Amino acid sequence: MVVVKPRVEFVGTVPSEDSLLKELELCARVCYKSEDKITQDSAKKLLTSLLNKKKPHWSVFEMMDIKIRFIISRHISHEFVRHRIASFLQESTRYVDYKKKGEVEFIEPLWIKELIRTASVENVNGLIVDIWAKNLRDSEKTYFTLREQGVKPEDARGSLTHDLKTELIYKANLRQWFHTFDMRCDKAAHPDMVYAMSLARDLMRAQYPTLFGGLHG
Ligand SMILES: Cc1cc2nc3c(=O)[nH]c(=O)nc-3n(C[C@H](O)[C@H](O)[C@H](O)COP(=O)(O)OP(=O)(O)OC[C@H]3O[C@@H](n4cnc5c(N)ncnc54)[C@H](O)[C@@H]3O)c2cc1C
Repeated sequence: MVVVKPRVEFVGTVPSEDSLLKELELCARVCYKSEDKITQDSAKKLLTSLLNKKKPHWSVFEMMDIKIRFIISRHISHEFVRHRIASFLQESTRYVDYKKKGEVEFIEPLWIKELIRTASVENVNGLIVDIWAKNLRDSEKTYFTLREQGVKPEDARGSLTHDLKTELIYKANLRQWFHTFDMRCDKAAHPDMVYAMSLARDLMRAQYPTLFGGLHG
């Protein structure tokens, strides 16, 4: 059994900020037939104004897609796939045989991370961490035993806990990324969701500061 931390990374070709802005500008200027106004630095000004309007010209930001891979727990991935204006690919618990891999990976949830941090102060926290870790070990053991008895991965998977690691690619246009960050980085969302989505937001902020730099949090 291995316990890993959540992480995120871009997938595939990641346009530079310059090329992304230029392509969006080209699309936007079709609306106004103002392609003749394109200069070396006109994209940033135009797109900032379209984004900051009282009612942003959202459809312009639907013209480019970005893919991010999330390494998260299965319980959080269930929430991701509720977003309908996005495309997904996810590690299969039917086709991946953890017995063949020799171990099952689990995600360290934030509440456990916090208990581990304070375990030396409050002994009871150490006890809770042990109970949690034992549950992971037991679920892995049950899975392996079922596999040895010939049970298929797609059936044995039911014994694994929701903290099972999964990999999920979330592909969305920029408008949908804004919407997703708005909903999922908010404190009303589950802390593990806020954590994973904030990592993605920071990635986008670093790559595309003109568009995502203004997001708070
Ligand atoms: C804090 C929190 C708590 C939640 N709790 C629950 C819960 O208890 N139970 C539960 O079932 N779900 C829950 N959800 C999930 C939530 O109901 C949404 O399914 C999920 O957040 C996707 O949001 P969305 O519909 O805005 O986004 P998307 O599906 O990504 O859609 C993006 C936008 O497209 C538009 N759109 C998409 N589909 C349609 C449509 N069919 N008709 C009209 N417009 C559409 C809407 O403007 C929508 O905001 C929760 C979500 C959050 C963030």
